[in-house]
Amino acid sequence: MSTIGDELKRVREEIEEARRHSLTGEPVQLIAVTKTHGVDVIEEALKYGVTDIGENKVQELTQKIDALGSRVRYHMIGNLQSNKVKYIYNDVVLIHSLDRPSLAKEIQKRGCETDHVVHCLLEVNIGDEASKGGLAYDQVLPFLESIVDYSHLKVDGLMTVAPNVDDEAYLRKLFRKMVALKEDIAGRHYEGVDMTHLSMGMSQDFHIAIEEGANMVRVGSRIFGARHY
Ligand SMILES: *Cc1c(COP(=O)(O)O)cnc(C)c1O
Repeated sequence: MSTIGDELKRVREEIEEARRHSLTGEPVQLIAVTKTHGVDVIEEALKYGVTDIGENKVQELTQKIDALGSRVRYHMIGNLQSNKVKYIYNDVVLIHSLDRPSLAKEIQKRGCETDHVVHCLLEVNIGDEASKGGLAYDQVLPFLESIVDYSHLKVDGLMTVAPNVDDEAYLRKLFRKMVALKEDIAGRHYEGVDMTHLSMGMSQDFHIAIEEGANMVRVGSRIFGARHY
């Protein structure tokens, strides 16, 4: 068995272990983050049952869509410039990084043009880090309310990239804050908004993210090894 196959097996076992210790016990969806890795690497992952991949750059994503077509489902997980929405909105199952009005407007506009509903997660900058994208915690509700009437943009949950720190207690606190925010929004029953997905947890922290309530994890280097850029 290849290294990718071995790692996928271990990661899946660890996901299952964390899920059994989670508060919700919900199934967890694995997004294999393939950024910087070639189509050959993705082909290998497909053999081991990967169904969903995450990419953070539009150009790289479109190259992979051209090469692989509908054999895998695509997630846009990185910062997205409004002028590049047109290249991907039709081909991705989920944009994880919706974090500002201009981007929402562009997604809605493109969606209307082709009558295609674009599914998105609101990205939250839960660690309040200057270096990161995402909505500030207290901007999430006002932003959501400003786009809730958009006919071709559907909000399906929340996403966050936690700070890259070793402090497990602090990370748990942030993940809990995301869970509480998701529940708060769900309880408001906005028409057309479903808090289905909570996308949080990466190679370093997916175990604790799942224990706290993540149901979608984005794992790259643990499966594919170090990235070179
Ligand atoms: C790169 C990336 C990941 C995966 O990171 P790893 O540490 O390699 O697992 C997850 N989410 C986002 C938004 C990323 O850019």
